[in-house]
Amino acid sequence: MLFDVIVIGAGPAGAAAARTAASAGLRTALVDKARFPRDKLCGGGFTGRAARYYREIFETDLPETFDSKSAVTLYGFGEKLGVIEDIPPVYLTMRLSLDAHLVALALAAGAEDFTGTRIAELAPEAGRVTLAHGTRLEAPVVIGADGVTSATARALFGRPFDPARIGFALEAEGPALPADAPLRIDMGAANWGYGWSFPKSGSHTVGVGGVHSRNPDLKTIMRAYMADLDVPAETRVKGQYLPFGKARRAPGRDNVLLAGDAAWLVDPVTGEGIAYAMKSGQLAALAARDALARHEPDAALRLYRQRLRPILTAMRHANMVRLLLYWGPFKTGFVRAVRKSGHLRHDYMRLLGGEIEYPDLMRALVRRLPNYLMRALGSAKVQGDSP
Ligand SMILES: Cc1cc2nc3c(=O)[nH]c(=O)nc-3n(C[C@H](O)[C@H](O)[C@H](O)COP(=O)(O)OP(=O)(O)OC[C@H]3O[C@@H](n4cnc5c(N)ncnc54)[C@H](O)[C@@H]3O)c2cc1C
Repeated sequence: MLFDVIVIGAGPAGAAAARTAASAGLRTALVDKARFPRDKLCGGGFTGRAARYYREIFETDLPETFDSKSAVTLYGFGEKLGVIEDIPPVYLTMRLSLDAHLVALALAAGAEDFTGTRIAELAPEAGRVTLAHGTRLEAPVVIGADGVTSATARALFGRPFDPARIGFALEAEGPALPADAPLRIDMGAANWGYGWSFPKSGSHTVGVGGVHSRNPDLKTIMRAYMADLDVPAETRVKGQYLPFGKARRAPGRDNVLLAGDAAWLVDPVTGEGIAYAMKSGQLAALAARDALARHEPDAALRLYRQRLRPILTAMRHANMVRLLLYWGPFKTGFVRAVRKSGHLRHDYMRLLGGEIEYPDLMRALVRRLPNYLMRALGSAKVQGDSP
């Protein structure tokens, strides 16, 4: 079967790519080994940024099933830094329903449904995908939106991710908390990572995540975190890789584009991945459209890279902030600054809420941090603790 674009993976990145491609009039195949609704390990934190991208890409309002919170308790390395109220709303959802909803919107725009079928053979550069029941799909451009263990990235680069740099997260669904319970974010709950407590109607999602190689005892950290939050010890804990940190240098090759987790687009400070997945999926589809209009499918990666630049810049800035947060010589000064400065705490939440972007946060940091950093640098020995 011939298409203009094959999208592999129907999570937020793939659904956004398929929706955008189909809306642009491209014959689009949407492939996923899972049948929807399917679950995906995730806190389901859907920020103001995600809400903005969602409305832009899917051209509809947020589902009414979303919870919304406008207060958060912020912790840093076990120390309470403050409660922040009146933050821009952070929405909370369950991926079981969110992803099925996004797939339905992509199919409604005209993408053809090949979900629920395993891929038997994948040759992305040749523009060929053969499904387990024998159907062969062909297209000049392929978008790999198949998550952190991306088979498309493996086909291009030999492995889906660099094990030395990958993150890992553990998560559990505890019993529901009272309706007015705030969000809780714990910077430094894991080494080079964070913890989260997201109270939703019907459940309470709790998790910790950090750089995998620095957290050989993440299970112990998770058990302690659950105990702290009164989540019963017998609650089932699940784990998954988390592609945060430096985004992939080459988000694809020629006519093959990688989006979302497959391209390592999770913010290493806030853990936000859904927004960047949807946005990169949209940008990949637009790059595919433009490359096909020029009859140059191999130009797709170049065009995608240009469009992706603001997200790559955000990830680069996020890495710098991560260094300030977690690198030994800096972190004491940083935590002290955040505890003392209501502005910084608010800016962090505005960043999470999508009201400001990293360049704005960087400017606020530069204004407020120097004294603390100089003091911290003066007293600390540099121990080669960078990631
Ligand atoms: C524990 C945890 C908590 C998180 N919490 C948050 C949060 O609160 N907020 C937030 O914004 N982000 C969060 N993230 C990050 C977020 O989950 C991801 O960034 C986001 O899901 C990326 O979307 P995606 O579409 O790229 O990939 P995915 O959502 O992983 O979708 C990939 C799709 O590809 C399919 N697929 C995979 N392999 C194949 C194959 N070989 N053939 C066919 N199909 C395939 C899968 O079935 C899946 O449907 C969290 C991540 C983790 C691990």
